[in-house]
Amino acid sequence: MKWSFLGGASEVTGSKHLLDVGMARILFDCGLYQGPRQMAEKLNRNLGFPAATVDAAVVSHAHIDHCGALPLLVKEGYQGPIHCTSATADLLPVMLRDAANIQEADAAYLNQKTNRKGLPQVVPLYTTADAEATFRLIRPHAYDTSIELPGGVKLLHLEAGHILGAAIAKIKIPRHGRDPLKIGYAVDLGRRHLPLLRDPAELTGVDVLILESTYGDRLHDAARNAREDLRQVVTRILGRGGKVMIPTFALERAQEIIYHLASLFASGDLPRVPVYLDSPMANAVSQIFEKNQDILDHEYYELRERTGDSPVTPRWLRFAETVNDSKAITSSKEPSIVLAAAGMCEHGRILHHLKHGIDNPANGVILVGYQAVNTLGRRLQNGEKKVKIFGDDFQVAAEITTLNAFSAHADRLELFRCVYDARPKKLILVHGEQEPRERLAKLVRDRLRIPVDLPNNGDSTEFDDL
Ligand SMILES: [Zn+2]
Repeated sequence: MKWSFLGGASEVTGSKHLLDVGMARILFDCGLYQGPRQMAEKLNRNLGFPAATVDAAVVSHAHIDHCGALPLLVKEGYQGPIHCTSATADLLPVMLRDAANIQEADAAYLNQKTNRKGLPQVVPLYTTADAEATFRLIRPHAYDTSIELPGGVKLLHLEAGHILGAAIAKIKIPRHGRDPLKIGYAVDLGRRHLPLLRDPAELTGVDVLILESTYGDRLHDAARNAREDLRQVVTRILGRGGKVMIPTFALERAQEIIYHLASLFASGDLPRVPVYLDSPMANAVSQIFEKNQDILDHEYYELRERTGDSPVTPRWLRFAETVNDSKAITSSKEPSIVLAAAGMCEHGRILHHLKHGIDNPANGVILVGYQAVNTLGRRLQNGEKKVKIFGDDFQVAAEITTLNAFSAHADRLELFRCVYDARPKKLILVHGEQEPRERLAKLVRDRLRIPVDLPNNGDSTEFDDL
């Protein structure tokens, strides 16, 4: 038996793990590396194994850094099942079609340059057709039902509390003349008290725990503060007649913000102003939330009961389907709230809103997600006073606020709590930069006396000591 860490071991993106049990090879997550173009090109072109030798694939959730290389896997010859939860099965087509569009657009853009220089054509990493071929292989399962994998391996998906449909897993691997090895797999662990999602399940009775460590060195503001933090900033901006611009990821964060606004409107804590969702993809994802409402948290139902309206697709929410709809919002001067993609302001319709509103001191931009280095979102977060949008310089006069209560990842104490509850014989920390991984490892070694491994990409283990 061998477990290989092929991606997302010592960084937070490109998760890929391969289990080889002799008779079968099972892939856990197949994510895209997201980062600087050259690095992404190098890491994403090579899966790290022959795709056709894999017998089954399991996907923990629909974030691109966990599922975005599936079309490449299929393009390179994989024909087996892709197991995931039902909600993830609904989300994958939306996410992967979008990813394929980006790959195609990216290649077309690069080819404009290469054509001029007479260089060879850039082939997209995968196409929409490859993505479509992937959808046929998706096998949805309910949470808490045993999934039989090749080689006698059994899998149970439990609630991760991270995004809709996200799962942590218990993996049971048969061993000759011994008890099966039980692995806990939590490579994106969510948080307690997120408004639409049920809390993460406890991973107990596992021999080894493979755990993410994105925020192994940081504490978030409590998720419960999110509503009040949002209320204060939005009230301030609307109070001076400004527009509220919220760059948002289409999956989860957009629905979370809409839920909070629905709650604030219902209680009278916010004046009713027009709210625009300027992201067709977020709109599509919201419909998938409705379809999967049986797995949503009780708070969703309470608010729905109280208002007689959906907290995710409320009647007051105005969609901007076309670019012209989007332009009508940017030209309007009335106080309003605009949610638009992308979450880090690096592309998407949010750029048009920022272009028309960032130089107005009455307006405000609320950052509610992680802002990577070298993105416009990070520059705004850092307080830069002059930024480039579509190649032109703009003065930043609008108020820029970051709300830290919005995070879909467990923080240092929530990760520690997961290990505390699981009490594995060994902890393996992945999905983190070096500093957070080491600091979390130290905490676990010191307090719980549990051995901790910090593998790098390309490493593997045979679990001989367990
Ligand atoms: Zn994730």
